[in-house]
Amino acid sequence: MRGFVLVARNNRGMSTPVPIELQAPDLSRWASGNTGTAYVWRFDSGRAGPQVMVQALTHGNEICGAIALDWLLGCQAQWQPVRGSLTLAFGNVAAFARWDPAHPDRSRYVDEDFNRVWADETLFGPRDSVELRRARELRPFVDAAELLLDMHSMGEACRPLMVCGADGRGGEKGAALSRQLQVPGVLLIDTGHPAGLRMIDRGPFADPDDARTAVLIECGQHWERAAADVARDTLLRFLGHGGVLAEGFVATHLKQLGRSPPAQQQLLRVTDAVVARSLDFRFVREFRGLEVIARAGELIATDGAHEFRAPYDNTVLVMPGTTNLKVGMTTVRLGRFEN
Ligand SMILES: [Zn+2]
Repeated sequence: MRGFVLVARNNRGMSTPVPIELQAPDLSRWASGNTGTAYVWRFDSGRAGPQVMVQALTHGNEICGAIALDWLLGCQAQWQPVRGSLTLAFGNVAAFARWDPAHPDRSRYVDEDFNRVWADETLFGPRDSVELRRARELRPFVDAAELLLDMHSMGEACRPLMVCGADGRGGEKGAALSRQLQVPGVLLIDTGHPAGLRMIDRGPFADPDDARTAVLIECGQHWERAAADVARDTLLRFLGHGGVLAEGFVATHLKQLGRSPPAQQQLLRVTDAVVARSLDFRFVREFRGLEVIARAGELIATDGAHEFRAPYDNTVLVMPGTTNLKVGMTTVRLGRFEN
């Protein structure tokens, strides 16, 4: 484990120390893949069952998922899919190759956000970027998947949450899947991102009447030790649920991790997005996410003369962040707990 502490900007634009507790794994041994596509591994049971896919490193600086997949591939002598097939992919490996613990945000992506390029217009369009090239390589695997888990982490030290999908576009079936997994504690149904389609919102995943389901786990702060445990715990539950891996293997390793599922899972539905109007956008205090603003009208942020206030009682802040602040950037989303 790296013991040093670096200084990064927190979401008020001040300096706050963020320890890097996780060490990025050496993924070079997985570069060849076994599918003809670099860093993509597929294991087929030869029996009927779901086509399951797990992706890590959608964002190159979110290393907890890579640690979980590196572990699973590394103990491949202990498992074989028992039904269906399992595809394990490291996503934005070009961004990850730039990983530098002294500048951990620089490896998020190379040209553009890899998780905003999944619409057909974009994938099959004329534009080119490092991320688009990789997405075009991975698209056939994504489109063949019936159950997909995309592993992420967050800028702030927020409790783990599952991004289940967009409201009316797959979010409900993602939430149902997460309830079967019994993790995490917070199940988020949002409205997608105007900047571009996420992988979990692609094609049949966004069709409420199609059984194919994709979810995105946010395991915690990017570099906190617990995020790697959350990633492995969620991965094991997901593969156990799909029936791809033997119950014994899943149970043994879940027990070894020793994480208990939350007493209850709460559904959190996004209603609004707060968008920066200027580079003067400031939160009124340091938020990490999932804070509940008790009263409608309470101030959340200022932006020059403009004030952003809670639209209703018990407004929940969803993934606040102003890293690389730009005009037009969503700095926080607002929502309600439903149960
Ligand atoms: Zn991410």
